[in-house]
Amino acid sequence: MYRSHTCGELRAAHIGKTVTLAGWVQTVRKFGSSMTFVDLRDRYGITQLLFGEELAKELAENPPGREFVLQVKGIVAERSNKNVHIPTGDIEIKVESFTILNKSITPPFTIQDDTDGGDDLRMRYRYLDLRRSAIKKNLELRYAVNRAARNFLHENNFMDLETPFLIKSTPEGARDFVVPSRMNPGQFYALPQSPQTFKQLLMVSGYDRYYQVVKCFRDEDLRADRQPEFTQIDCEMSFVEQEDILEMFEGMIKYIFKTVKGIHYTEKVERMSWEQAMWDYGNDKPDIRFGMKIANLKTPSSVYPELRSQSLKKPVVSKFLEVSPFPVFDQAETVLAIAVPGCGEYTRKQLDELTEWVKRPQIGMKGLAYIKCNADGTCKSSFDKFYDNEGLKEIADHAGAVSGDLVFILAGYEERTRKAMSELRLEMGKRLGLRKETEFRLLWVLDFPLFEYAEEDNRWVARHHPFTSPKPSDIEVMIGNDPAIEDPARYLEHPYARIKANAYDMVLNGNEIGGGSIRIYQRELQEKMFAALGMSPEEAQHKFGFLLGAFEYGAPPHGGIAFGFDRLCAILGGSESIRDFIAFPKNNSGRDVMLDAPGTIDDKQLQELELRLGLQ
Ligand code: ASP
Repeated sequence: MYRSHTCGELRAAHIGKTVTLAGWVQTVRKFGSSMTFVDLRDRYGITQLLFGEELAKELAENPPGREFVLQVKGIVAERSNKNVHIPTGDIEIKVESFTILNKSITPPFTIQDDTDGGDDLRMRYRYLDLRRSAIKKNLELRYAVNRAARNFLHENNFMDLETPFLIKSTPEGARDFVVPSRMNPGQFYALPQSPQTFKQLLMVSGYDRYYQVVKCFRDEDLRADRQPEFTQIDCEMSFVEQEDILEMFEGMIKYIFKTVKGIHYTEKVERMSWEQAMWDYGNDKPDIRFGMKIANLKTPSSVYPELRSQSLKKPVVSKFLEVSPFPVFDQAETVLAIAVPGCGEYTRKQLDELTEWVKRPQIGMKGLAYIKCNADGTCKSSFDKFYDNEGLKEIADHAGAVSGDLVFILAGYEERTRKAMSELRLEMGKRLGLRKETEFRLLWVLDFPLFEYAEEDNRWVARHHPFTSPKPSDIEVMIGNDPAIEDPARYLEHPYARIKANAYDMVLNGNEIGGGSIRIYQRELQEKMFAALGMSPEEAQHKFGFLLGAFEYGAPPHGGIAFGFDRLCAILGGSESIRDFIAFPKNNSGRDVMLDAPGTIDDKQLQELELRLGLQ
């Protein structure tokens, strides 16, 4: 036996016991010639070792250094200098004998919570980085979430079924990673962007509740926090409607909250239509931990037809600033405002800084207008020249401001302005401490448009994926209309622009953590969908003949969802980075800097694959 206990296990109750421990040397501290303290670390914790005078000679001959693997035998003793910060802080081991099981060269960074290692270095030596307790905690949380999800799904009759990795393209909107086939020269497999078509086929086969914690591969530009391979909790159910899916998976997330975080999320998860999310928050994954909703002071008649039609019903939405003495508002396509609570006292300096913030290329606005709502009922704005106090007050009221608030106004092109206002709202929420890591607010976003318009190709693309069904009431619209867009400038007037999808996203604190849909399960409708996306019948048959064929053999009504497992873990762990929750992640250029992958392959491999490099 290498060890009788772990380094996190011993307490005052063990005092007097003889134990054997094995672990890594975290620190060595010498006191005079007679005493040496060593902190020994393993996955479970840290235990202090005390080497007395009798071992001094042996220690001098075989000095253990940082990250050496050490085995010690000794007696548990009460510590004179207790450490209240660690669970083993009441005791130490009076070492009787020790063996160096393996040596270590000096590690490139300190293996402690506050390491001196930069990102790149830590990734290059990820196996050392993983020894740090901060990362270890993240991976423990990941495992706890995994276990909780599996328990819940198992209890609810879901079956974990594996699906292949070497497949044909599954369209989830990204590029495929491809793998050349040696046995079929000139041909390639695609790695799955998700197991979408397989899980649907499993429904056709009668496995009515499927799940898999599964790797997905998407070759996309790695925006801030994406990984080319990531993990989903992928699920599918038969004989269900949207409501059944929402109920089931709301249950799963609440179960994960309870088991992993001890949070009893008892209230029903709020629901919001995509339109409302766009109106009130400027994006489709709103952070509803705080209000500060967007007031629509002026919106163009050409954008978001659904939003426009809703505007008639919503008093906060108006053509209020259609005509304005302030040219910036007057000429803008859109004018949006938010009322920031209690910030009416912001200084010139703070306002200038925020103006610079919205002017950054990532946000891309030309300026930031504001109205300060003073306690005495007067207003002060950045465009005082054009409005009297009454006028300013009217705008501030429209934005929902009360005295003491600060109103921010952005004006410009619809899409960019809405996006910018959404960012500004989030930024203000962060600055005011309204986005608390410890508060969790879930939200279902529903009723997405089924199609998006792709300007480059003048055609429709699936907003979710091509297997998503339209709302039952929109099936007629889809079947009864030709998808062709005659006048690209007026695509919003095409009936397809109004079709709603039977799709849903689960949002947690402003992050999309899951998304899915009720699927098409009849061949005719699926064919119509492929045609709507600009696929010829031959192309549809070539790419998805297997699915269309399967739909002819009694496909049941079905639907599902997939959760972004890495992201869910990061949010539950209070982090913004999914990398911290993946044992061996890739960097922003998709490289594994530890393996130095991707890399070249040798000529023999290329020959076997009948591949030649370089453009001809
Ligand atoms: N396959 C989808 C995705 O990866 C999820 C789903 O529709 O179930 O986003």
